[in-house]
Amino acid sequence: MAKHTDNPAMKTSQAGPSPPSLVPRPGNDYRTGKYAQKERRVALSPELLSILACPKCKGDLTPCLAAPDVIEGLACPACAMVYPVREDIPIMLLEEAVPDEAWKAGKRSAKDARDA
Ligand SMILES: [Zn+2]
Repeated sequence: MAKHTDNPAMKTSQAGPSPPSLVPRPGNDYRTGKYAQKERRVALSPELLSILACPKCKGDLTPCLAAPDVIEGLACPACAMVYPVREDIPIMLLEEAVPDEAWKAGKRSAKDARDA
């Protein structure tokens, strides 16, 4: 009567070794190297965000989102500064930081903010 179907193929646990070609090489240059591709749209990982701190006050940073999954800058609420993220690389330099007000006015670099 009741037809019982067993499908053992549904229970496959895959714990194989990872392919060796995916091992990242240390010391690659993200700015000029082959990883500096324009179309990459990978949000900064939460792990990376959690270790980044404001270079001025060492405080926590708040991501500024250009889109739900695109981080455009990292803001320090304490310093009212925003550190731009360019091609997924956070620029954690005080001289590159954009004042919060200038950032809100659309400035995305310290140079733009100074020229305003
Ligand atoms: Zn700060």
